[in-house]
Amino acid sequence: MSNNYFITNLLNIKDENLNFSDGIYHKVIKGVTYTILTAKLEYSDQVCPHCGSNHNLIKYGFKSSTVRCSRSGDHPVLIDLKKKKMFCKSCNKYFLLESNIVDKYCNISNQVKRHVLSSLTKKLSMKDISADNYISTTTVSRFMAKLDNVFKVDFSYLPEHLSFDEFKSTKDAKGAMSFIYLNSDNHKVIDIIENLQLYFLKRYFLCFPRYVRDKVKTVCIDMYSPYISLIKELFVNAEIIIDRFHIVKLFTNSFNHTRIDTMKEYSTSNIKYKRLKKYWKHFLKPYKLLDPIHFFKRVHFPGKFVSDEDIVDISLDVDKALKNTYYCYQCLREDIEKKDFESFKFHLNYFKDKVSDRMRTSIDTCYYYLDFIKNSFIYDYSNGPIEGINNFIKVLKRIAFGYRNFANFRTRIFITRNLLTN
Ligand SMILES: [Zn+2]
Repeated sequence: MSNNYFITNLLNIKDENLNFSDGIYHKVIKGVTYTILTAKLEYSDQVCPHCGSNHNLIKYGFKSSTVRCSRSGDHPVLIDLKKKKMFCKSCNKYFLLESNIVDKYCNISNQVKRHVLSSLTKKLSMKDISADNYISTTTVSRFMAKLDNVFKVDFSYLPEHLSFDEFKSTKDAKGAMSFIYLNSDNHKVIDIIENLQLYFLKRYFLCFPRYVRDKVKTVCIDMYSPYISLIKELFVNAEIIIDRFHIVKLFTNSFNHTRIDTMKEYSTSNIKYKRLKKYWKHFLKPYKLLDPIHFFKRVHFPGKFVSDEDIVDISLDVDKALKNTYYCYQCLREDIEKKDFESFKFHLNYFKDKVSDRMRTSIDTCYYYLDFIKNSFIYDYSNGPIEGINNFIKVLKRIAFGYRNFANFRTRIFITRNLLTN
């Protein structure tokens, strides 16, 4: 079989008009060893791109250009491509033959571009991507900038179910926090806005005509009150859902603070202090999942065999308010899990005078937002997907050692979240 067959298959080159018969050599350019292939581009049947004529075409030699390809083994590959130059007698114009492996006026093969694009969807920094493909970071940025247009927001459409959240912004952005919102059904990012402030968001959402905003049925948010006034004003038909994970988080924090406050009433050498400190994980577990039947010797329980359930019962027995706060936390969390709003309301009322001050504040907050919390028991939408994206954003920022340019950052988030699943 011919050299041509091996080379085109090895490098996965689909253009049959390339002829690699001239051989391979290695060359060191700026300290990097390149594998250089020489190829000629010739067609059997040519057509003038200017006038469409396929006769009266005269060969006019070759024009050399260098094309960057995907690497083979350790070395990056360059193709020394000799494109045939032609002269058309019908229209008196010159033209060059073009290959489908590389765009006109470009010396980076489409293969490399595809590879860069797929690398951009992964958790890699721009520097790593450019080093991996032997191109400069500026080139990678340029590819990304070209995609910017693809991610323009369509102001004539909004999905019926939205989810709002925020994340820490880049250094050059107008606000310290940026706003992100997505389609709750397919979890696609709709847009990222660089400023979280209310007047800024209002101005942004007013770009959507009234009839588009009126179609929005639910918006899932965390407990950030400016969102509520924004939704009430601009999305008049939308139900507000307060994300249930945020409600659970509120109670968890209140319980934890109560535990720490109680701990601090004792000296650090006191066994009560030690128990409350060491077994913090046991308190956060759902009570029904604690093991009641297996007894072990435990640290801070001298001379006794205790089960996981005993640990919680004995440790919390030091303070009545703490114990009530614990029961309150467990009950409310179970109600949320079971989606039993009546029971949730009953427990709020039942515990409100029996718990610590911190928990009471959280209960008051729940009363304040009760209508919206109720919706989280009715609808299945939550902010889970958006929190997942926010985690991804954090990772992306960390590997890139912080993004300075908001536009690039926005495009990168769109590429990673929306491009491949389209
Ligand atoms: Zn012509």
